[in-house]
Amino acid sequence: MFNLDSLVRPNLRDMKPYSSARDEFQGEAQVMLDANENSLGSAGPDQFNRYPDPLQRAVKQELAQFKAVRPEQIFLGNGSDEAIDLLVRLTCVPGQDSLLILPPTYGMYEVAANLNDVRVERLQLTPDFQLSPEIVASVLASDAKIVWLCSPNNPTGNLLHAEYMEEILRGFRGLVVVDEAYADFAAAPSWTTRLAEFPNLVVLQTFSKAWGLAGLRLGMAFASPEIIGYLNKIKPPYNVSEATQRFALQALRDADRFESLRQQLLVGRDWLAERLPALPIVAEVFPSDANFLLVRFHPDATAVYDFLVARGIIVRNRTTQPGCAGTLRLTVGTPAENELLLQALREFNA
Ligand SMILES: *Cc1c(COP(=O)(O)O)cnc(C)c1O
Repeated sequence: MFNLDSLVRPNLRDMKPYSSARDEFQGEAQVMLDANENSLGSAGPDQFNRYPDPLQRAVKQELAQFKAVRPEQIFLGNGSDEAIDLLVRLTCVPGQDSLLILPPTYGMYEVAANLNDVRVERLQLTPDFQLSPEIVASVLASDAKIVWLCSPNNPTGNLLHAEYMEEILRGFRGLVVVDEAYADFAAAPSWTTRLAEFPNLVVLQTFSKAWGLAGLRLGMAFASPEIIGYLNKIKPPYNVSEATQRFALQALRDADRFESLRQQLLVGRDWLAERLPALPIVAEVFPSDANFLLVRFHPDATAVYDFLVARGIIVRNRTTQPGCAGTLRLTVGTPAENELLLQALREFNA
């Protein structure tokens, strides 16, 4: 029922990708005069005079072990945002095709659609930000090329019900992209464990959140080798810099630090989630499987937002998002930052 080749844009199916010097010769030769690099060296303290590995083999080798997948199931991009854009460009004919989002959700899916002149279909999540049998039925009836399932969802923080996601994976004719940017904070297993079952599944993860490397810009997509092959074919040849590849390798070899950061953020999330409901201005703290909390304030969330800004505390105002009236999204910070946030909220209107 799922046919990747018929989903891919016809002009890309047969497109010949750019063949870089590093594609044609890999490794260290004695004399490297094939890529118009500067053999003498680099300005600045570090050596970056050679083009990086276009397929980031060393990083993928480590990452494959860490994630229990095969290197051929991994795509690396300049942030997950690059993978989001490439997935749209791979499947959606501009001015003709559509993609499907489930608001309230991450804004980049829609930006990527607009950038590529792709129509956006919307099916709003239930009031508790979940899938339902009705939503699943509408997804399965859609001709969209991609459906985006953000789980844990941004800005709401909750995991989507796995059984409904599975129904979508079984019945949807397009790509099902599960954005797991926050999976490291969730108790549920990653959908990467189900790749073999679903040829239409793409799982997105990132180094920007639990790994603490947002400034590095490194995102991951996990999918069948066929889908990954297409992404590699259409990506900019050197989309992940040598600096990023080196730092990512160092991070992957420092998994203890990753685990410690993750644990501390989970403790901070619980600490805030325990105390926020006691504040008179807090109407609801939504359950979170992420490193942030969506909180409904009354009577006026934007007044709370402005008050925090004046105190030098910036949070995300989500009041205009579908189903999110009266809400602010609070990222879990250091223990000291969490204290400052809570103290400021206690002083609002006091
Ligand atoms: C933060 C976030 C990302 C990460 O994007 P990067 O480009 O990798 O920094 C992806 N998806 C969602 C839903 C996010 O909230």
